Amino acid sequence: MARIAVGGFQHETNTFASTNAAFADFEMHDAWPGLTRGPDMIAAVAGLNLGLEGFIQSALADGHELVPLLWCSAEPSSYVTEDAFERITGMMVEDLRSKGPFDAVFLDLHGAMAVEHHQDGEGETLARVRSVVGHDIPVVNTLDLHANVTERMVQMSSAMTIYRTYPHVDMEITGERCYRLLIRLLGGETLHKGFARSPFLVPLPAQWTDAEPCRGFYDLVLNQQLDGLASSDLALAFPPADIHECGPTSVAYDPDPERAQAAAQRIMDAFIAAEDRFDNTMLTEDEAVRQAMSAPAGPIVLADAQDNPGAGGTSDTVGVLEALVRNHAQRAALGLLWDAEVTREAHAQGEGAEFDAPLGGKSGRPGQTPFRGRFKVERLGDGVFDCTGEMYRGTRTNLGPMALLSVVDADCDVKVVVSSHRFQNLDQACFRHIGVEPTEQQILVVKSTVHYRADYDPIARKTLVVESPGEHPCRLVGLDYRHLREGVRLEPMGLEHRRG
Ligand SMILES: [Zn+2]
Repeated sequence: MARIAVGGFQHETNTFASTNAAFADFEMHDAWPGLTRGPDMIAAVAGLNLGLEGFIQSALADGHELVPLLWCSAEPSSYVTEDAFERITGMMVEDLRSKGPFDAVFLDLHGAMAVEHHQDGEGETLARVRSVVGHDIPVVNTLDLHANVTERMVQMSSAMTIYRTYPHVDMEITGERCYRLLIRLLGGETLHKGFARSPFLVPLPAQWTDAEPCRGFYDLVLNQQLDGLASSDLALAFPPADIHECGPTSVAYDPDPERAQAAAQRIMDAFIAAEDRFDNTMLTEDEAVRQAMSAPAGPIVLADAQDNPGAGGTSDTVGVLEALVRNHAQRAALGLLWDAEVTREAHAQGEGAEFDAPLGGKSGRPGQTPFRGRFKVERLGDGVFDCTGEMYRGTRTNLGPMALLSVVDADCDVKVVVSSHRFQNLDQACFRHIGVEPTEQQILVVKSTVHYRADYDPIARKTLVVESPGEHPCRLVGLDYRHLREGVRLEPMGLEHRRG
């Protein structure tokens, strides 16, 4: 039996967002546990849809000895601070030194972490792990589908597996796949690496894997596996990351080096051949609201894709809210709008009270102003609820005080779920917790780009992606990239990036 160090450190960095991720953000419990070090880590992730949990369960079932390092993640934002990165990797390195020797290391990583002093957070993390355990034992890891995989990550990792679904319903399974690769390595096999890179970026709304062309790439990945290849994966990448190696990549592993490279290249060839088939359609706020109002039956789901906190958005822009009120929308509910101040006020006033307040638009984003109106406090909540959708199944949130407000003195029926923390509405429980039955609404507005689809598509008559202000840009041409390599096309069929 092997002695394996296990842990995870996750952040998705939107370098165009305004707030960095500090150490305290990794300590905070939201839907996933806060920073947990040592033996408590195993219980903290038990039952969650995480790569770490999939790996742990597979390894324990086979009787291996696991040595927990630490697990932590923070809500997507701009750079991870130097302080947070140094403290977290410092703990990992310290535990690897004091608790070894090990036969292998497994890390549950994201792959799109940029740090104040390192563009490639995961490459640096893996290098630090290698500096302790050396290059003679396997170090394996999982990555998010949004990983910007770098050559250094591929070099430092013995093998990696990457989520194959967006929404990410297969995080746990990705950990199990990684375990199976590790077993081959521990059995003495050599897995050679294949790696290929895309010449263009793809905005997140066009990365939905239940739709073409993405579905076809993952069919190909699966077929390669059925043909006996050890492993292959495709990362669709996280484009609002101004780093040199930003962009989609494919990786493959096989005992046969030529087969590994050919497999990675075959996936990338299919990806490149589909360049004119990516759909990044977004409607204006007014057009989306009007279409939703004129639909014979609801719910019509409006995705406020650019203010998705799960991609670094502030979750407090009010463009869609204003459009709902302006167009006199009926039976409309929007959530989650991050405004700790108004949430506190609602709790102070109590259910049934009415008050005037500037709502949202406070995060300092240029040009953003709050929605000014009068609100009635319909319901209060403590932010503790069980997620029921496939992606966050088994997760109990701890989001702090929440409130359901209705807009009064306007000829509309619009309710807003306000929260004390930023959290992506990817689960119907976000509405039910505060007394809104999603299936009974004509219009549901979620601040999410694609993840909402896992739990909302089954009840939605239609979903519309809305282009409204936010810090998660879904149009990439015109962004002020300073570190991105020259020549990469900023969108499918789009312009080539040139500096300055
Ligand atoms: Zn992701």
